[in-house]
Amino acid sequence: MNATTRAGLGKATAQRLESAPLMKCPFCGDLENKVIDSRLSQGGEVTRRRRECAKCQRRYTTYERVEEALPLVVKRDGRREPFDHGKFVGGIKKACEKRPVPLATIEAIAESIERELSESGAKEVASTDIGEKVMARLRAVDEVAYVRFASVYRSFRDADEFMAELAAMLKTRGDKK
Ligand SMILES: [Zn+2]
Repeated sequence: MNATTRAGLGKATAQRLESAPLMKCPFCGDLENKVIDSRLSQGGEVTRRRRECAKCQRRYTTYERVEEALPLVVKRDGRREPFDHGKFVGGIKKACEKRPVPLATIEAIAESIERELSESGAKEVASTDIGEKVMARLRAVDEVAYVRFASVYRSFRDADEFMAELAAMLKTRGDKK
Protein backbone atom coordinates (compact mmCIF):
# COMPACT_ATOMS: atom_id res chain seq x y z
CA MET A 1 0.00 0.00 0.00
CA ASN A 2 1.50 3.30 -0.97
CA ALA A 3 1.22 6.73 0.65
CA THR A 4 -1.71 7.93 -1.46
CA THR A 5 -3.83 4.93 -0.56
CA ARG A 6 -3.00 5.26 3.08
CA ALA A 7 -3.91 8.95 3.11
CA GLY A 8 -7.26 8.17 1.54
CA LEU A 9 -8.01 5.52 4.10
CA GLY A 10 -6.92 7.69 6.97
CA LYS A 11 -9.49 10.27 6.14
CA ALA A 12 -12.24 7.72 5.97
CA THR A 13 -11.23 6.11 9.24
CA ALA A 14 -12.20 9.31 11.07
CA GLN A 15 -13.40 7.39 14.07
CA ARG A 16 -17.09 6.86 13.70
CA LEU A 17 -18.30 5.17 16.80
CA GLU A 18 -21.42 3.20 16.24
CA SER A 19 -22.94 -0.10 17.04
CA ALA A 20 -22.92 -3.03 14.67
CA PRO A 21 -25.92 -5.13 15.67
CA LEU A 22 -24.87 -8.48 14.25
CA MET A 23 -21.71 -8.98 16.29
CA LYS A 24 -22.19 -11.26 19.28
CA CYS A 25 -20.20 -10.74 22.47
CA PRO A 26 -18.03 -13.86 22.93
CA PHE A 27 -18.43 -13.62 26.73
CA CYS A 28 -22.14 -13.07 27.29
CA GLY A 29 -23.63 -13.36 23.80
CA ASP A 30 -25.15 -9.90 23.83
CA LEU A 31 -25.61 -8.29 20.42
CA GLU A 32 -25.23 -4.70 21.51
CA ASN A 33 -21.76 -3.25 21.39
CA LYS A 34 -19.87 -0.19 20.38
CA VAL A 35 -16.84 0.04 18.14
CA ILE A 36 -13.98 1.67 19.99
CA ASP A 37 -11.32 1.26 17.33
CA SER A 38 -11.35 0.32 13.68
CA ARG A 39 -8.49 -0.30 11.31
CA LEU A 40 -7.64 -2.14 8.13
CA SER A 41 -5.32 -5.11 8.15
CA GLN A 42 -4.09 -7.71 5.64
CA GLY A 43 -3.66 -5.26 2.79
CA GLY A 44 -6.95 -3.49 3.34
CA GLU A 45 -9.22 -6.50 2.85
CA VAL A 46 -10.01 -7.09 6.46
CA THR A 47 -11.24 -4.58 9.00
CA ARG A 48 -10.14 -5.21 12.54
CA ARG A 49 -12.55 -3.73 15.05
CA ARG A 50 -12.15 -3.43 18.76
CA ARG A 51 -15.56 -3.61 20.37
CA GLU A 52 -16.97 -3.14 23.81
CA CYS A 53 -20.00 -5.13 24.89
CA ALA A 54 -22.88 -2.93 26.02
CA LYS A 55 -23.98 -5.52 28.59
CA CYS A 56 -20.84 -6.91 30.27
CA GLN A 57 -18.49 -4.12 29.13
CA ARG A 58 -15.82 -6.62 28.17
CA ARG A 59 -13.77 -5.87 25.07
CA TYR A 60 -13.13 -8.11 22.11
CA THR A 61 -11.79 -7.89 18.58
CA THR A 62 -13.55 -8.81 15.37
CA TYR A 63 -12.05 -9.27 11.93
CA GLU A 64 -14.51 -8.45 9.21
CA ARG A 65 -14.10 -8.73 5.52
CA VAL A 66 -15.21 -5.47 3.94
CA GLU A 67 -17.39 -7.26 1.38
CA GLU A 68 -19.40 -8.97 4.09
CA ALA A 69 -20.11 -5.74 5.89
CA LEU A 70 -21.15 -3.82 2.81
CA PRO A 71 -24.83 -3.02 2.28
CA LEU A 72 -26.89 -4.31 -0.61
CA VAL A 73 -27.05 -1.90 -3.51
CA VAL A 74 -30.54 -0.76 -4.48
CA LYS A 75 -30.62 -0.02 -8.19
CA ARG A 76 -32.76 2.66 -9.80
CA ASP A 77 -35.35 0.08 -10.82
CA GLY A 78 -35.56 -1.22 -7.25
CA ARG A 79 -33.55 -4.40 -7.78
CA ARG A 80 -31.05 -5.21 -5.06
CA GLU A 81 -27.66 -6.71 -5.65
CA PRO A 82 -24.57 -7.42 -3.55
CA PHE A 83 -21.92 -4.75 -3.57
CA ASP A 84 -19.40 -5.61 -6.27
CA HIS A 85 -15.94 -4.20 -5.61
CA GLY A 86 -14.66 -4.95 -9.11
CA LYS A 87 -17.60 -3.28 -10.79
CA PHE A 88 -17.35 -0.31 -8.45
CA VAL A 89 -13.65 0.29 -9.13
CA GLY A 90 -14.25 -0.37 -12.82
CA GLY A 91 -16.79 2.45 -13.00
CA ILE A 92 -14.40 4.93 -11.43
CA LYS A 93 -11.52 3.73 -13.64
CA LYS A 94 -13.63 4.23 -16.72
CA ALA A 95 -14.36 7.83 -15.77
CA CYS A 96 -10.63 8.38 -15.24
CA GLU A 97 -9.57 6.81 -18.55
CA LYS A 98 -6.67 8.74 -20.11
CA ARG A 99 -6.80 11.24 -17.27
CA PRO A 100 -3.83 11.95 -14.98
CA VAL A 101 -5.41 10.08 -12.07
CA PRO A 102 -3.12 7.48 -10.49
CA LEU A 103 -4.56 4.01 -9.95
CA ALA A 104 -3.71 4.37 -6.27
CA THR A 105 -6.00 7.41 -6.05
CA ILE A 106 -8.83 5.50 -7.71
CA GLU A 107 -8.37 2.66 -5.28
CA ALA A 108 -8.21 5.04 -2.33
CA ILE A 109 -11.48 6.64 -3.45
CA ALA A 110 -13.14 3.23 -3.73
CA GLU A 111 -11.81 2.02 -0.40
CA SER A 112 -12.78 5.16 1.48
CA ILE A 113 -16.35 4.88 0.17
CA GLU A 114 -16.57 1.17 0.93
CA ARG A 115 -15.31 1.87 4.37
CA GLU A 116 -17.82 4.64 4.91
CA LEU A 117 -20.64 2.35 3.73
CA SER A 118 -19.49 -0.54 5.87
CA GLU A 119 -19.14 1.63 8.96
CA SER A 120 -22.57 3.19 8.46
CA GLY A 121 -24.05 -0.20 9.36
CA ALA A 122 -26.76 0.29 6.73
CA LYS A 123 -28.25 -2.86 5.22
CA GLU A 124 -29.05 -1.19 1.93
CA VAL A 125 -27.79 1.80 0.02
CA ALA A 126 -29.16 3.43 -3.12
CA SER A 127 -26.83 3.19 -6.12
CA THR A 128 -27.45 6.91 -6.63
CA ASP A 129 -26.10 7.64 -3.13
CA ILE A 130 -22.94 5.72 -3.96
CA GLY A 131 -22.68 7.70 -7.20
CA GLU A 132 -22.92 10.97 -5.28
CA LYS A 133 -20.10 9.90 -2.98
CA VAL A 134 -17.89 9.05 -5.94
CA MET A 135 -18.70 12.36 -7.59
CA ALA A 136 -17.85 14.36 -4.50
CA ARG A 137 -14.41 12.74 -4.39
CA LEU A 138 -13.73 12.76 -8.13
CA ARG A 139 -14.62 16.41 -8.34
CA ALA A 140 -11.72 17.23 -6.04
CA VAL A 141 -9.34 15.06 -8.05
CA ASP A 142 -10.11 15.57 -11.74
CA GLU A 143 -12.88 17.68 -13.23
CA VAL A 144 -13.11 15.80 -16.52
CA ALA A 145 -13.39 12.46 -14.72
CA TYR A 146 -16.01 14.02 -12.50
CA VAL A 147 -18.15 15.20 -15.41
CA ARG A 148 -17.83 11.84 -17.16
CA PHE A 149 -18.87 10.00 -14.04
CA ALA A 150 -21.66 12.44 -13.27
CA SER A 151 -23.12 12.19 -16.77
CA VAL A 152 -23.43 8.43 -16.38
CA TYR A 153 -24.47 8.10 -12.76
CA ARG A 154 -26.61 11.11 -12.24
CA SER A 155 -27.98 10.81 -15.77
CA PHE A 156 -28.78 14.46 -15.94
CA ARG A 157 -32.43 14.89 -16.67
CA ASP A 158 -31.78 17.43 -19.39
CA ALA A 159 -29.14 19.59 -21.01
CA ASP A 160 -30.00 22.56 -18.77
CA GLU A 161 -29.21 20.62 -15.65
CA PHE A 162 -25.94 19.46 -17.12
CA MET A 163 -25.02 23.01 -18.16
CA ALA A 164 -25.88 24.34 -14.70
CA GLU A 165 -23.57 21.75 -13.18
CA LEU A 166 -20.79 22.64 -15.61
CA ALA A 167 -21.25 26.36 -14.95
CA ALA A 168 -21.07 25.80 -11.20
CA MET A 169 -17.90 23.79 -11.71
CA LEU A 170 -16.27 26.43 -13.89
CA LYS A 171 -17.23 29.14 -11.44
CA THR A 172 -15.59 27.22 -8.58
CA ARG A 173 -12.46 26.86 -10.68
CA GLY A 174 -12.53 30.57 -11.51
CA ASP A 175 -12.77 31.47 -7.83
CA LYS A 176 -9.69 29.44 -7.04
CA LYS A 177 -7.52 31.52 -9.37
ZN1 LIG B 1 -20.83 -9.17 26.86
